[in-house]
Amino acid sequence: AQASLITSEKMAALGALVAGIAHELNTPIGNSLLTATALADMVTEFERHLASGGVRRSVLDAHLADAKKACNIIAASLGKAADLITSFKQVAVDQTSDQRRRFALAGVLHDTLATYAAQLRRANCRVHVDVPATLEFDSYPGSVSQVLSNLINNAILHAFEGREHGVITITATALDDDTAELRFADNGVGMSSRTLNQVYDPFFTTKMGQGGSGLGMNIVYNIVTGVLKGTIRVESTPGQGTTVIMTLPLRVPQPVKPGTDPCFEEIS
Ligand code: ADP
Ligand code: MG
Repeated sequence: AQASLITSEKMAALGALVAGIAHELNTPIGNSLLTATALADMVTEFERHLASGGVRRSVLDAHLADAKKACNIIAASLGKAADLITSFKQVAVDQTSDQRRRFALAGVLHDTLATYAAQLRRANCRVHVDVPATLEFDSYPGSVSQVLSNLINNAILHAFEGREHGVITITATALDDDTAELRFADNGVGMSSRTLNQVYDPFFTTKMGQGGSGLGMNIVYNIVTGVLKGTIRVESTPGQGTTVIMTLPLRVPQPVKPGTDPCFEEIS
């Protein structure tokens, strides 16, 4: 019974996500559609003027100017839709292929950082890492990497705008035999308390139309609590920076599959 409950919770979360994405795309796609229809009418009108002859040049020019405006609106709206899709792809990596296994956090961190090398250089951002090589997890490395990707992405996109040098500091320590603490800090612009209050809300972004989707921290929260079975909190001071603090169990239990759990068989 427990296994099917988890599945239906996941389905509900997926449903909410899909509904949100549909809602976000609705505006730019709807705009394009309306404007394209208006453009078709303009062309018809233009043809009518041409066929009837004797229409002043200035009237035709005005029609052409309107048509050009419509084309620009369509291009801008579709550009917005394309940006949204790009950012969805960035945050919503397929998790079904993520296998639970033993891994060193330092290794996964190193590999994830490597994929951001060019972006970090462009942002003039240095990364300090203090993660013991011996810190190992029995958990989901792909999910850990996705969390780190989103946090690095955020530091680059939000924290260091207009700053000379950004520094990201990533530290991890074992709190006890079962739990590690992972801290991800930047010395960037920080967040207002209003932003901090909404930071996990799906589609909350202060970068609408500038590469933001508002999904990053929502996905980070869902992975940390749902997949990695940990906790997360964010501390931020405007003008000083942001620290994301996560506690992660070193061993995440194997999920219960229907039919493999004796309790499950008995109840159902
Ligand atoms: P997105 O990055 O698409 O805007 P997120 O869910 O990743 O959405 O983040 C939500 C908001 O939280 C961002 O729009 C930004 O205002 C704020 N934010 C996230 N990370 C940082 C950071 N490291 N520094 C400052 N602000 C941040
Ligand atoms: Mg983000």
